[in-house]
Amino acid sequence: MCGIVGYIGHRKASDIILSGLEKLEYRGYDSCGICFLDDLSHDFVMYKDKGRVRHLIDDFDYSMSNHLGIGHTRWATHGKPNQINSHPHFSWNQRFALVHNGVIENYKELIAKYLPNADFVSETDTEVIATLIEHFSNTLSVEEAIRKTLSLIEGSYALLILDTQHPEFIYAAKNKSPLLIGVGEKGVTLASDVMALVGNADKYMPIEDKTFTVVEKTEDSYQYRLCDIIGSPVEESFMEMNIVLEEIGKAGYSHYMLKEICEQPSVVRKIISKYMNDDVFSIDPKALSIVQNAKRIYIIAAGTSMHAGYVGKYYFENIAKVPAEVFIASEFAYNMPLLVENCAFVFISQSGETADLRACLVNVKALGYPTLTITNVPTSTLAREADAFLEIFAGPEIAVASTKAYVGQVAILLVVAYVMAKKKPFDLHHELSRVAVAMEAIIDKREYVHSLVGEKLTKRNCFYIGRGLDYYTCLEAALKLKEISYIQTEGFAAGELKHGTIALIEDGVPVIAIISQHAINNNTRANIREVHSRGAEVLVISLNNVSELTDEIVLMDVHESLSPMVTVIPTQLISFYSALDLGKDIDKPRNLAKSVTVE
Ligand code: GLU
Repeated sequence: MCGIVGYIGHRKASDIILSGLEKLEYRGYDSCGICFLDDLSHDFVMYKDKGRVRHLIDDFDYSMSNHLGIGHTRWATHGKPNQINSHPHFSWNQRFALVHNGVIENYKELIAKYLPNADFVSETDTEVIATLIEHFSNTLSVEEAIRKTLSLIEGSYALLILDTQHPEFIYAAKNKSPLLIGVGEKGVTLASDVMALVGNADKYMPIEDKTFTVVEKTEDSYQYRLCDIIGSPVEESFMEMNIVLEEIGKAGYSHYMLKEICEQPSVVRKIISKYMNDDVFSIDPKALSIVQNAKRIYIIAAGTSMHAGYVGKYYFENIAKVPAEVFIASEFAYNMPLLVENCAFVFISQSGETADLRACLVNVKALGYPTLTITNVPTSTLAREADAFLEIFAGPEIAVASTKAYVGQVAILLVVAYVMAKKKPFDLHHELSRVAVAMEAIIDKREYVHSLVGEKLTKRNCFYIGRGLDYYTCLEAALKLKEISYIQTEGFAAGELKHGTIALIEDGVPVIAIISQHAINNNTRANIREVHSRGAEVLVISLNNVSELTDEIVLMDVHESLSPMVTVIPTQLISFYSALDLGKDIDKPRNLAKSVTVE
């Protein structure tokens, strides 16, 4: 679930790899490493350690000329994050060095069958791949040895491989874990995310599963070749690089998360401009036919995207009038419910690479059901493999805690349901435009939200309560606060708290209530009184027309159905400022990775 980068070309390889790793660090970051070819000595130089890419950059020597290399940031799955388990890993006799993103499921069986006497240095599954290639290279050519290894390993991998006996090559392969190739005037770059290709490539393409790629440094240039597992050439489908470097900088903000929170009004406006033509909202006809012909829609997602999915369920049922259900991807993959006939599947994933979702996609495609992916990354695996996809146009989201991608997902789900609806319940252009303005209004008051955080959020635990759509926002708000401030937070249906969990309310426990809906205003107010009388420190977030004088955060009115896109903003700010005040690493919270590419 890490990031990998490889480079061959006219520029200094270590510079490209290290800056690429910094851009990919959000994907996983407990350790990192690099291996490059020293042009003078013709030896490979390898550095790796536990910790951040900054440590790799600052504390090692890159003065030697070098034009070929590979690098890795790790999110450990096998073995502790430490120096020895960091990538790159050498094969047993040090002939091959490789970096790996993913999990090899059958590595123990492979050891037992092919390498019973090998002496492994690390605890990783990765080292087995390197040693297996070396084992087969005793009798086969390098390419054959790699292809043979690929035919045996099961699981997910993006691999970059170096051979000390043929140091002018980088071999690459992938299955399930993402890998892209970027080609520019000055070289070829391989990376797990397009972000690491920006600035180095004029065109790029995602590499398909089971594709084997060979990049070679020639006398004064380089060349590359893409083939399948038996060596036949595969078709190239390069796209023009259309991301600019400024889009992935912090643009003067202290943190990516704050920048991304502040970008949300423009995400909503961009969605309007992308999905509205001649005053009419429309979506890709294929995507529309998938959901329109469905008797029931199953939404599959995880984490924040699942919370967007709940709001989507509301839109499908209340606006499009089609029943919808939301499933946790990791549960659905191995515990599929009884499906109704003529159903359709909607997959929601910020990165489009979420392994739990991919497992479900593979299953339901095999059963012949129509599939639609909603994602921020149009080149991603889930976008490519579903029957249709819709882009959320949020722009690169770097902070691990998702904000603008969440709002983008909710907005697209709304657009889809609205386009499906036979009777349009409101003027969507007008209502979405109001949402953008209401977002701006609360973002402008962010220092005020910061002051509330200091007063109220000083405890180890916290509750969010709300009903209906507000409950879904509570779930997302609680996850966001947990993720980056490490304050244990629960999002609760306001009426459910008294059925047990209210036992946890005592003097000073913060309870944040969200109220945006007329129909439940009185009920949630009653629940607020219940916790208040038991000592809770209450903070109320409400829309203006359901607000009371004592409410701490009052938001501009928007159409009630669209309120989740506005009520979530102060909760994101609360999370951000709590983490800031607690001195946490906001953009890269512990134990987390942006793109969860392992099951
Ligand atoms: N499974 C490998 C390990 O634990 C790779 C993990 C990753 O994708 O970062 O080292």
